[in-house]
Amino acid sequence: MFKNTRFIILLLIAAILFVDCKTDPKVPDTPKEDTAPVKRTQVRIPKFERDSAYIYIEKQVSFGPRVPNTEPHQQCRDWLIEKMKSFGADVIAQDFQATAYTGELLNGTNVISQFNPEATDRIMLCAHWDSRHISDNDPNEENHTLPVMGADDGGSGVGVLMEIARNLQNTPIELGVDIIFFDLEDYGESNGPEETWCLGSQYWSRNQHRENYKPKYGILLDMVGAKDAQFTLEEISMTVAPELMRKIWKLGKGMGYGKYFVNDRTRPIIDDHYFINKIARIPTIDIINKPRTSRTGFMECWHTQCDDMTNIDKATLQAVGQTVLATVYRENNGNL
Ligand SMILES: [Zn+2]
Repeated sequence: MFKNTRFIILLLIAAILFVDCKTDPKVPDTPKEDTAPVKRTQVRIPKFERDSAYIYIEKQVSFGPRVPNTEPHQQCRDWLIEKMKSFGADVIAQDFQATAYTGELLNGTNVISQFNPEATDRIMLCAHWDSRHISDNDPNEENHTLPVMGADDGGSGVGVLMEIARNLQNTPIELGVDIIFFDLEDYGESNGPEETWCLGSQYWSRNQHRENYKPKYGILLDMVGAKDAQFTLEEISMTVAPELMRKIWKLGKGMGYGKYFVNDRTRPIIDDHYFINKIARIPTIDIINKPRTSRTGFMECWHTQCDDMTNIDKATLQAVGQTVLATVYRENNGNL
């Protein structure tokens, strides 16, 4: 995740995207009030198990920092693929190479897991699974060259989505769900060009895993595990899919998670959703811990050495996990 300062330019781009969405009938939009709900078997919303999500994060962290071109990165890649297959998903390992701002050639893999691959009505859930190569936001300058463990920044979104995948296996629905773990999100240049970030989602946006892939919307999870997280209304998300944002925040509050799903509007940020909206034109929102005021702009341990398992709070995992799980099942049931 990149703390962006050129937000006015972004706002303009987001506004252009929005205009395009409204004028091009082929571009998927947020759920329409007047669209008749699809008749599907009603499925009860399962319970999200926070301990399970926690274990999936712990496992990722146990490999070490998942920095591209390292052994822990490769090991975690293989584990993610195997685990998502074990949940019954149709898994595609999309290997690619991208050049970093440092000039290094990075080997990346987007892990794409399809549930109900034959279904035409689909939604997409995503997170990034790599961790940052440098702790360049650490208060101690001596730590700036060290890699980030990325329990929250990377690990948490993946852990929550793995628990959702496990639920999709145990409590099947008819809706098509694609869970994508993007690689190389966090190898960007601080205060550098935006294109140096989110290399995996940029690659996928230009090389999608299906012909004419048009999910109804996408939901990105990033940094969803820290204590007292605040998921605010980020500007790009509010521009491309305001109705979906309102529905999810209302759902979260209704389940007692109002402390996490707060109504503050926050500035647009460069994250995977930015490129998915811009390049793939899939209306995609970002559920991200982005308090209106904090030292880092995000959670306290953002791009520092303290982003380890001590930075993960199960109550936060429960809040976001249960809310997204309810969103998926309600979408299936036609009552989101
Ligand atoms: Zn990051």
